[in-house]
Amino acid sequence: MANNGAWSKSSWREKPRVQMPDYPDQAALSAVEAKLSRHPLLVFSGEARTLRDELAAAGRGEAFLLQGGDCAESFAEFSSNNIRDTFKVMLQMAMVLTFGAKVPVVKVGRMAGQFAKPRSAPTETINGVELPSYRGDIINELAFTPEARHPDPSKMLEAYTQAAATLNLLRAFSKGGFADVHQVHQWTLDFASGERAAQYRDMADRIQDTLDFLTAAGLTSDQNAELATVDFYTSHEALLLEYEEALCREDSTHPGDMLAGSGHMIWIGDRTRQPDGAHVEFCRGVVNPIGLKCGPTTTAEDLKVLIEKLNPRNEMGRLTLIARFGAGKVREHLPRLIKQVQEMGANVVWTCDAMHGNTVKSDSGYKTRPFERVLAEVQEFFAVHREHGTIPAGVHFEMTGQDVTECTGGVRAVTDEDLSDRYHTACDPRLNASQSLELAFLVAEELSN
Ligand code: PEP
Ligand code: MN
Repeated sequence: MANNGAWSKSSWREKPRVQMPDYPDQAALSAVEAKLSRHPLLVFSGEARTLRDELAAAGRGEAFLLQGGDCAESFAEFSSNNIRDTFKVMLQMAMVLTFGAKVPVVKVGRMAGQFAKPRSAPTETINGVELPSYRGDIINELAFTPEARHPDPSKMLEAYTQAAATLNLLRAFSKGGFADVHQVHQWTLDFASGERAAQYRDMADRIQDTLDFLTAAGLTSDQNAELATVDFYTSHEALLLEYEEALCREDSTHPGDMLAGSGHMIWIGDRTRQPDGAHVEFCRGVVNPIGLKCGPTTTAEDLKVLIEKLNPRNEMGRLTLIARFGAGKVREHLPRLIKQVQEMGANVVWTCDAMHGNTVKSDSGYKTRPFERVLAEVQEFFAVHREHGTIPAGVHFEMTGQDVTECTGGVRAVTDEDLSDRYHTACDPRLNASQSLELAFLVAEELSN
């Protein structure tokens, strides 16, 4: 094991930190941290270990990872219906992907904790007025006033409450029968018109036939119940380390091991992956599966150090590398990282975030992502892995179950002019329900090639 010095859940405090607020009221911050550290964990270590095993299977090509959800969860958009709809679209996507990949799909939501956001600049200027940037509802508020942009530590408690309620509903949906998948072709009715409709309906029919066959072949209701429940995991960027530390606890089943109790999987963002920085320091010491965003500026040298720090025992499933280069750039950047991983003989899970390298400003002024570019990045990711004989193990999307107009394109084409209709995201543009499902069909096609 690399000698990285002693780790504790607060050792990140000795390291350079970026993208975190400076709370002016330190006494208020300490009071919130003390309170939060007495709140129950949101996840159990056994679940995080099971997820690690499932991710390991994905890394070996025996499963496929689907990670998705909001860019940033928000307090204002918090509702049962929103949670239900995103969960439902993810299950639909998973069913379609299972059919293409012919392996189980590991379902991980960007949910129940995805509140804190890194920003490209610390301040924002509108009409000559400069204020601190919005950093997610766990830190400050979107409204453009000095009061709203003030970082308020008590928001961590509200975020915890929302995360707990979200996870509670997800657990109920996962086990309570909502997850039943026996209505596949119904899904395509809602969106599949036009050129590609026949192709989607054909795949949906084949999935439906398979399910009907299983029922006809005498699958008992008990076995049917298996199809009606799912394992669904939560994940978020571990950005606000005061929150993460307060929920970090010793694993009662493995004394000495420390669990980030804020979610099953946590990841390190592209802006906070400094090898000697605070975020890497926190993440290296917890037992959860860790994601690491890899962007155009990730060097092979940095990746080497990061792999050594984050996965010193070289366990498959511990570290997921989330490539996010942008369409047209995968071939330029991914090969050097694959080569580094191969040279080290490192066990990693490769997945593709096809969102964050594809953000553009539309003519109408909205931040958007063209559907074709999202799809193109996934296709390039698969192609490069095919050429290197390595395994593309999953996909990562910003998406919602709502009928928003934030990304352009898709069969029910959202145009530049449409963006203003239902642009609800507090941060990055998300695929809507129809675009998400369509993408799943296209990725499934790619997987079955
Ligand atoms: C994100 O996943 O919302 C994000 C900010 O991504 P990245 O760190 O890759 O830019
Ligand atoms: Mn985002």
